Amino acid sequence: MADDAQRRPEGQAGGAQSGQDRERDAVIHAKLKDGTLKIYELEKELMPIDAIRVRRGFIEQETGTKLENLGIFSIDVDRVTKRNCENMIGTVQVPVGVAGPVLVNGGCASGKYWLPLATTEGALVASVNRGCSAITKAGGADVRIIHDGMTRAPVFATDSVSHAAQVGDWVTVHRDELKAAAESTTSHGKLTDIVTFVAGTSVYVRLEFDTKDAMGMNMVTIASAKVADLIAQGTGARLIALSGNMCTDKKPAAINGIMGRGRSVVAGVALTNEQISTILKTDAKSLFEVNYRKNLVGSARAGAMGFNAHAANIVAAMFIACGQDAAHAIDGSTCITTVDQTETGAYVSVTLPSLPVGTVGGGTGVDTQQECLRLLGVAGSGTPPGTNAKKLAEIIGAGVLAGELSLLGALAAQHLARAHQQLGRG
Ligand code: NAP
Repeated sequence: MADDAQRRPEGQAGGAQSGQDRERDAVIHAKLKDGTLKIYELEKELMPIDAIRVRRGFIEQETGTKLENLGIFSIDVDRVTKRNCENMIGTVQVPVGVAGPVLVNGGCASGKYWLPLATTEGALVASVNRGCSAITKAGGADVRIIHDGMTRAPVFATDSVSHAAQVGDWVTVHRDELKAAAESTTSHGKLTDIVTFVAGTSVYVRLEFDTKDAMGMNMVTIASAKVADLIAQGTGARLIALSGNMCTDKKPAAINGIMGRGRSVVAGVALTNEQISTILKTDAKSLFEVNYRKNLVGSARAGAMGFNAHAANIVAAMFIACGQDAAHAIDGSTCITTVDQTETGAYVSVTLPSLPVGTVGGGTGVDTQQECLRLLGVAGSGTPPGTNAKKLAEIIGAGVLAGELSLLGALAAQHLARAHQQLGRG
């Protein structure tokens, strides 16, 4: 935690600059201007909080733009400037709303949760809130992790297709040796699978890890470097890139949908006709038809990789609130939503094949994001390690289910435009 002096934003009580400070800043600005000091070198000369202020002042001068609100924040910048953000000039504030409580009957998460959603999309939190209400009244969402594995796939160049095939064989034979090398780089990660793909003279070795409570991208990248060196030495193949895009990180990809990446989560809820009518203001047949014609047929006709209404909305909002890597919202967009008509109503489910989440490392330690994780009872290492990240994935799965239910209901009842007009327009 930073002390109060560090957290105090420039211009707030006690944070005003003295004439001497202003003179010192002006000297540094002049050095930045003439190039004798680079903007990324400021932390070498100044405390992080001062480096941020001076850099922001320089950018204000350079662009003629006043940036006073970017300079108001409370997070520990000592930590953030070292681990999370280079050339920092301040923070952007994203409103956080809560939806819930939502009852989760998961393999790891169990109980009622208030979901923190960081968003500027009016109507989103209200919509998820309505879905949470439906789920909780229906007895809770069943949620399970069906696969768990973060991947990295180095790419190698070989001399011929037969050499490429030999690399695959070598990897199979030396699997235990590769596993030991990978696990020598981490006290938490476990190499759980290796799958080799060949395309002409290129070989992709997709390494999959149990990363416990970490989302794991840094962890598996470090471990994969060690494995890749051994493969290159043992086979004569040339390592071209540690990431060969068959991982696949931050791009929508069928491989993640089929084989899973990060935590693969399913969530479902059985709603009675009465609940569908009173909470969602529609009926089971209409829910089924909207899902069929929009999420399934419409998505297929569009060539979409996601078969859902707006799963990425909830994933992005919870990822930003909880310090996850926001670019992985793309993975949330590949969710498949189903509606089965039952004798008593409908069973609605979401399948998220790829949800890369963690409760340690990355942005999870930033003070505000850490508070959101604490709100869910999942901050830091779980007991045993891995349970907190799984809990978080299950809670997000329940949140996505709530979002899908609510939007499908609004569409089935023809209420969507009205809700956005009332809640999204000031
Ligand atoms: P990290 O910030 O590198 O921290 C993870 C480390 O925390 C683990 O390696 C582990 O150390 C330690 N740890 C302590 N308690 C743990 C527990 N209970 N479970 C698991 N590990 C525990 O985080 P990361 O999740 O590996 O990487 C996330 C970051 O990677 C994000 O900031 C993301 O934006 C970034 N990222 C990186 C790449 C890349 O290619 N490098 C790509 C995309 C995103 P030991 O391993 O020593 O046990």
